[in-house]
Amino acid sequence: MKSIQEIFPLLKQPKKVVITTHQKPDADAMGSSLALANFLKQFGHTVTVISPTNWAAFLNWMPGSNEVLDYEKTIEKSHKILREAEWLFCLDFNALHRTKRMTNILTEISCTKILIDHHIEPQVEAFDYGYSLTTKCSTCEMIYDVIVESGHDDMLNIPIAECLYAGAMTDTGSFRFLSANETVHLMVADLKRRGLNHSQIHENIYDNFLENRLRFIGHMLLNRMEIYYEYNTALIAISKNDLLRYEMKTGDTEGLVNYPLTIQGIKLAALVIDRDEERKWSFRSKGNFDCNTFARTYFEGGGHFNAAGGRSSESLDQTVAKFKKVMKENEKLLQ
Ligand code: 5GP
Ligand code: MN
Repeated sequence: MKSIQEIFPLLKQPKKVVITTHQKPDADAMGSSLALANFLKQFGHTVTVISPTNWAAFLNWMPGSNEVLDYEKTIEKSHKILREAEWLFCLDFNALHRTKRMTNILTEISCTKILIDHHIEPQVEAFDYGYSLTTKCSTCEMIYDVIVESGHDDMLNIPIAECLYAGAMTDTGSFRFLSANETVHLMVADLKRRGLNHSQIHENIYDNFLENRLRFIGHMLLNRMEIYYEYNTALIAISKNDLLRYEMKTGDTEGLVNYPLTIQGIKLAALVIDRDEERKWSFRSKGNFDCNTFARTYFEGGGHFNAAGGRSSESLDQTVAKFKKVMKENEKLLQ
C-alpha cells in the first residue's frame, strides 16, 4: 500500500470515482464519504457514493446524501458503476468484508483502490494507496488532512465543513474521548473560521428522533440492562420483539451502548442486537480494557481500543451465553 500523497498530483485529471464505506454507515462514514465526494467533484471527477446498506434517517441532512446509492436496492446499477470506476475510495473501514454483500464485487474489480481509515489492523494487501492512522479520531479528520495537505484547502466549503464536523463530533463522543486530540480541535477551529455553524450539526444529529426512540431507550435501561458488578460489566441484549414493538429503525439504537458506562465503576459495556442476518455486537470500555482485541478474539470483529464491534451467527440466547462465559474468563482484565 503506497502513501496517499502519491495520488495528490493526479487529482486534477478527471476520473470515474466511486466512494464506499462500511455497512450501516454512521456519521463518520457518511460524512467522510460526502465530504470527499464534494471535494473531488470540484476537480471535474464523476463521483458516486455507494453505501453497502441503508443508513439512519438522521444523516439525511448531510449535503449530497440524497444522491447516495443504497447498494442493496440498486445492485445492477451499482455493479455497472463499480465495473467502470477508475478509482475506488474505501472510507472508515479497513477490511473489505465490512461491506457485507458488496465484498465480492469490491474484491473482483481491478481499479485503483485507495484506503482512508483510522481502525486497527488494516487489510493492506487489498489497497493500492492508503492513509491509515489509528491515532486519528475520525475518518473525517483524515479527509480534512487530505484536502489541506494536497494544497487545495480553498475548496473546503461549508457543505464539506458540515460533513467533517459531524463525523469528528460523533466519533469522539462530542470531543470527550481520549481520541479527541489537539489536531481535531485545530480542525474545528479552522472550520469555524470558515463559517461553520457547529450547533446546528449537534441538533441535526442528536435532537432529531421520534418519541418512540426515547421510550425504547427507557425500556432498555429499565428492563433489559444487566449489570455484573463483580466483572464491572454491563450488558444490553435487544430482541427482535423489542425492535418491532417500538418500531426501531436503522440508527435508533446508536449511542445506547454508552449509557451503562455512566454507572460508577463500569468498565465494559456490551450491547447485542438481534438483526435478521446476524447478531451484531457493540463494545465500549473505559480505561485499559481493550475492546478491539476482545471483539476480534470472541466475536469476529474489531475496531478501536475503547470502541469496537463484532458479530455472531448464533441465536441471541447462545451469543449472550458466550458473552457471559468470556466475560468471566476476562475477569482479571476487567478489574
Ligand atoms: P459500533 O459499535 O458503533 O457499530 O462500532 C464501534 C467501532 O467498531 C466502529 O469504529 C466500527 O467501525 C467498528 N466495528 C463495528 N463492527 C465491526 C466489525 O464487525 N468488525 C470490525 N473490524 N470493526 C467493527
Ligand atoms: Mn470512524
